[in-house]
Amino acid sequence: MSDVLKVLFLSPEAVPFAKTGGLADVAGALPEALKRLGADVRMALPFYRIMRERDSQTRPLLKDLKISLGTETLAANVLGTQTEGGVPVSLIEREDLYDRPNLYGTPEGDYYDNLERFTFFAHAALKTAEALSFKPDVIHCHDWQTGLVPALMKGPYGATPFFRGTPTVFTIHNIGYQGLFQAQKIALTGLSSQQFFHMEGLEYYGRISLLKAGIVYSDAVTTVSPTYAREIQTPEYGKGMDGILRHRRTSLRGILNGVDYQLWNPSRDTLIPANYSTQKMAGKPQCKEALIHEMALNESLEKKPLLGMISRLDSQKGLDLLVQILDDILALDVGLVLLGSGDDRIQRAIHKAAKSNRGRVGLKIGFDEPLAHRIMAGADIFLVPSRYEPCGLTQMYALKYGTVPVVRATGGLDDTILQFDPRTGKGNGFKFKPYEAAAFLEAVRGAAELFLDPKAWKKVMANGMKADFSWERSAQSYLELYESLTTRSV
Ligand code: ADP
Repeated sequence: MSDVLKVLFLSPEAVPFAKTGGLADVAGALPEALKRLGADVRMALPFYRIMRERDSQTRPLLKDLKISLGTETLAANVLGTQTEGGVPVSLIEREDLYDRPNLYGTPEGDYYDNLERFTFFAHAALKTAEALSFKPDVIHCHDWQTGLVPALMKGPYGATPFFRGTPTVFTIHNIGYQGLFQAQKIALTGLSSQQFFHMEGLEYYGRISLLKAGIVYSDAVTTVSPTYAREIQTPEYGKGMDGILRHRRTSLRGILNGVDYQLWNPSRDTLIPANYSTQKMAGKPQCKEALIHEMALNESLEKKPLLGMISRLDSQKGLDLLVQILDDILALDVGLVLLGSGDDRIQRAIHKAAKSNRGRVGLKIGFDEPLAHRIMAGADIFLVPSRYEPCGLTQMYALKYGTVPVVRATGGLDDTILQFDPRTGKGNGFKFKPYEAAAFLEAVRGAAELFLDPKAWKKVMANGMKADFSWERSAQSYLELYESLTTRSV
């Protein structure tokens, strides 16, 4: 056996290929960090329309791979590409399933055939590994879209000579997305209903849950911060999965996500108007000025605190709190720039709240990666008032950009942000605990007041910019976990 650990990395999205949220950042960076530590990592992704349009450098790898989906047999083509750091990626191509405007659905709801789409992906990814003779020592799956794979490994695939005994790791990036589908579709998955569709299996109150499949059948479960690992075992945060997670608690651990400082670093970011670092801060006010101009905000805001927020528009993200107290926040004599995409209802509520504040509030609805960088660099204070937050990446990016985070003390936000104490000069941001508009407002007020004290503000910014959340440490933890599961001889 070779002494290089082989990892098959299965995610429904990854930077730079396709992204709806933080999972893509993780799936873009972690395989590269694992590779730097010596692992042989191969990734698989569905070949979505957005990748087709972007004209990525692909080459044909496999043609007409036969995949059974219930009683049907469908063919997939597989294209090959690689990440910038040289991780090979197999792209599963099937027009009727993946050539669509979005990854999982529209603002009105999920695509009706997501079970078919991600069942097909699970089988095709495993068959591709086999066809390419890439025999993994461990399969690392991410979120409900790949939750079927651990079950398949305990079922039909685990019985094959190629995959026999291959351990799986399942990472929960967000317990709120559970991959729920009608029970009668179980035959599609390729799993025996008798063996898998019951309370100790992937059944969840009469439905199929692919998230539960991942939790129950994987050899180890991880989530993306130590605090979230504890929280999801409680009824308040477990979204109905807390019982099953308590049951698996000895196999569950939290490993904090890292930051890809190649992409998120104000000293080398090519998407911002001026670069800066702790030694040379002149670029930051330039970024602020440019952002104020771009969002058509009042020039007087240049000397006042500018708040930024970049978020999926989802009830998870605390936008209801923001809408409730927007007028009170603006009464603190600050400006706000908000970039978000998602839920229609939340979009309308924000539009309504922002309408009467032209010049003070800059709102952009849509997914806009370059603007996200310009907001990170141009704002002074960054808001993450989440109801729950498995890890959260934007607060860690904000730290690096000297944009002081105001966060709710939950999940990874609580693990990464330390309340600033002006007496000791310790801390990198502002936190509030109860999920209440008044508590959020107090935290924003604390930040806006500190902004008026340039010496203290410089200190809190510098504390954040110096923090190091690079991927190496987290990747090392994953590697140790993989090693603990494999029986290979080294
Ligand atoms: P989540 O995965 O729950 O959306 P994270 O904080 O882990 O939250 O990651 C969010 C990622 O998505 C960050 O990279 C953030 O910059 C990005 N992002 C979120 N909304 C937008 C948007 N509308 N436009 C551009 N980037 C966005």
